[in-house]
Amino acid sequence: MGKFFRAGVALLTISLLMTGCRIIHKSEDPMSKKGPQAEEQQQFGAGNSQEQKVKLNPLLTQAEFEKLKKIERRHIVFNGPKQKKRVALTFDDGPDPRFTTQILNILRENNIKATFFLIGKNVQRFPHLVKQEVDEGHAIGSHSWEHKELPKLTPQQLHEDLKKTKEEIKKASGKDILFLRPPYGATKGIEEKLKKEGYVIINWDVDTVDWKPGRTPQQIVDVIQKETQPGSIILFHDAGGNRSATVSVLPQVIQQLKSKGFEFVTVDQLLEVRAYHN
Ligand SMILES: [Zn+2]
Repeated sequence: MGKFFRAGVALLTISLLMTGCRIIHKSEDPMSKKGPQAEEQQQFGAGNSQEQKVKLNPLLTQAEFEKLKKIERRHIVFNGPKQKKRVALTFDDGPDPRFTTQILNILRENNIKATFFLIGKNVQRFPHLVKQEVDEGHAIGSHSWEHKELPKLTPQQLHEDLKKTKEEIKKASGKDILFLRPPYGATKGIEEKLKKEGYVIINWDVDTVDWKPGRTPQQIVDVIQKETQPGSIILFHDAGGNRSATVSVLPQVIQQLKSKGFEFVTVDQLLEVRAYHN
């Protein structure tokens, strides 16, 4: 009986650990029509032990490739190095005239730099906000043209979508971006293709789930307090719906992380690679 009991406890422990991992890495996004479960499968679909032996991304220097190789898992960056007490705040789906402006004001008041992952369509509508982000010292990257699930596009559609977005960002900011945050964090089966297209895939390890209707500021604070570690990449949204909760909670979040001794950096600073190749 004892043996069976111990085996049962061991199995239960393993399954609890696996559940924990899923919770940490689950991917949620405001425009998602699927549940977190389906998204997480997208994220975890492509395990490949042979990855990262070859420099797939033609735009990276050898030194950048070596740096990323140490931190990427399945071709994806989820966080930065854990040796330094630094974090990167990231904002997806913008720019948005109302919420991006408010967030930029808060970041300026606190003298903090963040990273914005932009929707090409929104860049086309509000290019001045993208220019402002760059002028104020923030980093920018692509979040695709209109938030489609990238693995569902044909290779040609994928190429066109990313190219169009990159060109629109360049037009607005003068920058040739390297970073891509795929909508929903979904990259199943296309990780190598994205690298060959010249992108560094940047996901996150702390999901505030700030996009979810009814999400309270306290819930956002709690998840950040609980999950943030040295090197964390924290996911917020500055567009795609009412982002009042995000805006209202941001000063408090900054204050709390500062008091814990965290320094705020952009994703390129966190990873010690360039955000742009021009
Ligand atoms: Zn998004």
